[in-house]
Amino acid sequence: MIDFISQYEPVLRVVVFLSALALLVGFEIISPRRFIGARRGRWQTNFLLGGANMLLLRVVLPGGLVALAFSTHGGGVFGWLNMPLWAEIIVSLIVLDFVIYAQHVAFHHVPLLWPLHAAHHAEQTLDVTSGLRFHPGEALVSLGIKAVAIVVLGVHPVAVIIFEILLSSTSLFTHANVDLGRWDGRLQTLFVSPDMHRLHHSKAEDESRRNFGTWLSVWDKIFATYRATPHIGHERLPLGLAGFRQGGLIEALRHPLRHFVRRP
Ligand SMILES: [Zn+2]
Ligand SMILES: [Zn+2]
Repeated sequence: MIDFISQYEPVLRVVVFLSALALLVGFEIISPRRFIGARRGRWQTNFLLGGANMLLLRVVLPGGLVALAFSTHGGGVFGWLNMPLWAEIIVSLIVLDFVIYAQHVAFHHVPLLWPLHAAHHAEQTLDVTSGLRFHPGEALVSLGIKAVAIVVLGVHPVAVIIFEILLSSTSLFTHANVDLGRWDGRLQTLFVSPDMHRLHHSKAEDESRRNFGTWLSVWDKIFATYRATPHIGHERLPLGLAGFRQGGLIEALRHPLRHFVRRP
């Protein structure tokens, strides 16, 4: 199984990503949570950003985080702990999810990082493709943080592959404009749901500084950053950033600059 995952990593990632995307787009059409209007312009921007980030990260770190894990596995914290592989993979996924939670909190609270992440929050309409809309600057910082975590922990390459597949699929899922009914609330017991993450995109600052989780919802509950329901219903909840327009690709790319200029 582990050999299979390692050997077919790129194919596996593409198949899972495209399947998740197709399933969620279908679900959004059958059971939408909100009215979202025209998709074409936003989709163009979001897919271009997602594709550009993927290429950029491959240029910066050829072979990606998996190749890094192949060269550093055996060292770090896990090298010292000597756990069975199955346990090492489960612990790695949980710890890496916490790293992503902490990174997200930092992107909101560190003045130098926020303008990069604000490009993601400027979107006033959310759907599955919003899970691809990240500024290249944020993608680079995130790559650096994940690389450090993988080296320090000595994460097994298979855990990195599973983590990356999980991260890209959950990013699509939590941004999806889908109505899960009562299952959304039930899901939030352990995991981040679309309603939970939509609240994080609220224009109201006391709401956008809640629900930082990506996969597990437990970090928000442990660190008291969890909020279950927005101040008004999800159907009418204003999304985006006060004072900034959504814009297209160029607007998204220069968003951090505009943010610095406008910052009081
Ligand atoms: Zn955020
Ligand atoms: Zn988001």
